[in-house]
Order: sequence, then structure tokens, then C-alpha cells
Amino acid sequence: MAMRSLCFLVFLAAAMQGTLAVDYTVTNNALSTSGGVRFRDAIGDDYAKQTLDSATQFIWGVLQQNAPADRKDVQKVNLFVDDMDGVAYTSNDEIHLSARYVNDYSGDLKTEITGVLYHEMVHVWQWNGNGQTPSGLIEGIADYVRLKANYAPSHWVKAGQGEKWDQGYDVTAHFLDYCDSLKSGFVAQLNQQMRDGYSDQLFVQLLGKTVDQLWQDYKAKYGTS
Ligand SMILES: [Zn+2]
Repeated sequence: MAMRSLCFLVFLAAAMQGTLAVDYTVTNNALSTSGGVRFRDAIGDDYAKQTLDSATQFIWGVLQQNAPADRKDVQKVNLFVDDMDGVAYTSNDEIHLSARYVNDYSGDLKTEITGVLYHEMVHVWQWNGNGQTPSGLIEGIADYVRLKANYAPSHWVKAGQGEKWDQGYDVTAHFLDYCDSLKSGFVAQLNQQMRDGYSDQLFVQLLGKTVDQLWQDYKAKYGTS
């Protein structure tokens, strides 16, 4: 009886924290390829699921999606390892990872795939301004979270590099990191604002300067203008 009450309390506490809210599945569709086998042996379904969960918790923290009302209504995220080109992509609550990429990667595979999964998981949770947010900013926010999680790969550009603020990926990630240093929580607020739509004016609203001015300031700070 006491055990049952304890179990119930643990369940209740977990439910209140939202830790029971999301389920994860891993489906390896590439086991007939060397990349699929490498995924099974070097990463494994259990580690992948743990990583998807850690990524979710981390993203909710960085994006300050503290309450369920702040988040998308996603109960389940499915990871597929597929025999395909590229690295990975996300469509709604499905993440597809390339077994060919896993096969060809030289370096610390586990760290790299963890970083890739963090990036893809951001796409599950971030808002896209009802489709109005530029893709460079979408990808920049995903890599910003990866940067904050310390999973930025060594081949990324350094802070201050790049041609345009919305170039995407590592370039935009470092720029967003600069913006967030001007006002802590900026990226979280920007994401919240993108629940309904997007305009470059959001930078003015949140930081008091146009995004072009901010990019100029950023380049000047690093002496890369
Ligand atoms: Zn992406």
C-alpha cells in the first residue's frame, strides 16, 4: 500500500514537471547498410532516446518554455535512421537522420550526432512565425541552442564571421549569441514573439536597434566589418 502511494506521488511529481509529457521512439530503417549498423553499435536506441529527452529539457530551458502553454502540443517525437543523403531533417515531430552521414563521419561520432539531434529537436519546439520567419533565422536559432549546449563542432565559423545576419546556421547562431549578451533571454523572447508571426521589427522592439545596425555593431565588436 505504502509502495503504491509512493509510486503515485512519484508519478504525480513527474507529471507536474512535464517529464511524462513526451515519448520518444527510435526506428532504424538502415540496418542493411553500414551506416545503420554503425548507428546501432556506436550510438544505440537507448542513448538516442536519452539524448532526445535531454535535448527537449535543454531547449525548454533556453527558450524559456517553462509551462506546457508555452510549448507546441507534441506528445511524441519519432527518430528515424534512414538510408539517405544529407545530414538530417525534421518534419513536425519526426526527425530523420542520415545513415550515410553516420557512416562517413570521422571524428567523435557520438558527440557529433548528439549535436545534430539537439539542432533537429529545436525544430520540433521552436515557433516559425506562421511560416514568415526567414529560414536563416530558423536554422540560426537551432544552432544557437546547439552552441549553448556546448555541442558546436570545431569546423564552425568563429564569432564575428559571416556576410549577413540571416546567413543561417553557425553564422546566425553566433550573432544571436551576441544579441542575447545585450539582453539576457533575447532569443527566448524572439522565439515567443514568433508564435504569431515575424518581422525584422522584432529586433527593434526587443533591443532598440534595427537588425542591420545590430549586425554592424556585432561586426565592429569583433573587428570583422
Ligand atoms: Zn535545421
